[in-house]
Amino acid sequence: MELVAGFTAENIFYHLGGKFRGSYRPLNENIQNGRIRGVAGVVGCDNPKMGSGAYHVALVKELIKNDCLVIQTGCAAIECAKEGLLRPETAFEIAGDGLKEVCKAVGIPPVLHVGACVDTGSQPLTDYITKDIEKLVGGKWAFIEDPLDAAHAMIAHIDKKRKVLKLQPMLYTQAFPAQV
Ligand code: SF4
Repeated sequence: MELVAGFTAENIFYHLGGKFRGSYRPLNENIQNGRIRGVAGVVGCDNPKMGSGAYHVALVKELIKNDCLVIQTGCAAIECAKEGLLRPETAFEIAGDGLKEVCKAVGIPPVLHVGACVDTGSQPLTDYITKDIEKLVGGKWAFIEDPLDAAHAMIAHIDKKRKVLKLQPMLYTQAFPAQV
């Protein structure tokens, strides 16, 4: 499968304006002047009931045909990649004239893959979901390479919450004893 991916909120400045003139201006101006109709996000899970990817593929094709720039993440993006929609050459065959003109001028494809649904590569988002979100919902995300280290970090987090709730100690001996 061939695809172009790796776009982020940060590096799209560079793609749009170059190293010394990075900005959203080319995008904004071409939305205002009617070459690009708008920007549409098509993200998230696939649904086998809807024909395994068929829904996302049809949706994205129709959007770019009608001059909407598409932003994708997650499994929706993978399904579109399998159909070749993340290959600029294929997407240009379908895209409307205005969208095609702008994308070719600035060197971006009509469908921008901004990463996995759980990892956009953005440091502020990573900080939020691994730290700050805990104050709001009590849980948080973690990115740990070793599966046992990951399990132990999750168990330690649960133990911390058990302690706050003043729950009973675990009834039976634990392979990984409480750390708090
Ligand atoms: S990776 Fe993301 S998009 Fe894919 S099934 Fe999981 S939550 Fe859904």
